[in-house]
Amino acid sequence: MNLLLHMCCGPCTTSSHKRFNELGYNISGYFYNPNIHPYKEYKKRLETLEQYCKKEDINILIDDRYSLEEFLREVVYREENRCLYCYCMRLKETAQKARQEDISHFSSTLLISPYQNHELITEIGEDAAREFGVNFVYEDLRPFYKKSVKISRQEDMYRQTYCGCIYSEKDRYCKLS
Ligand code: SF4
Repeated sequence: MNLLLHMCCGPCTTSSHKRFNELGYNISGYFYNPNIHPYKEYKKRLETLEQYCKKEDINILIDDRYSLEEFLREVVYREENRCLYCYCMRLKETAQKARQEDISHFSSTLLISPYQNHELITEIGEDAAREFGVNFVYEDLRPFYKKSVKISRQEDMYRQTYCGCIYSEKDRYCKLS
């Protein structure tokens, strides 16, 4: 079975794609993450992912639209619920791309993170699957998170220190200063 795997970054991709391979899926990657701010950070994460995919011979489709303004317009005044829009934006595009590419299944490397809301991702993934006539695959990848950290360190990959948006960067650093 073919699966389009939304990839948020290189480190999260390491163990995720291996796990989906073990489950019998033939993986293609898809990068669409305009939630990553600032732009230099976005480029760094994308370059790291591209290097990893090249090394592992993973086919990756890159959607380089960087709609920062749209992201901010959508979350302003509802910053507490920003992840809802963020998941929705990325998973809908992934489902649509899977449909366009005639790939029957899709999922996301977000599912390796213990810091993400798995219930919300599943709900949104299933909605997007219905809308575009493809299948969302939920796999709890959290047991592989530590391994992904280890691999990314061994491979000397760039590892981000916050989720992605400027709000998460503030949450990560503001209390430390
Ligand atoms: S915290 Fe992470 S998932 Fe939530 S809106 Fe920001 S980048 Fe997206």
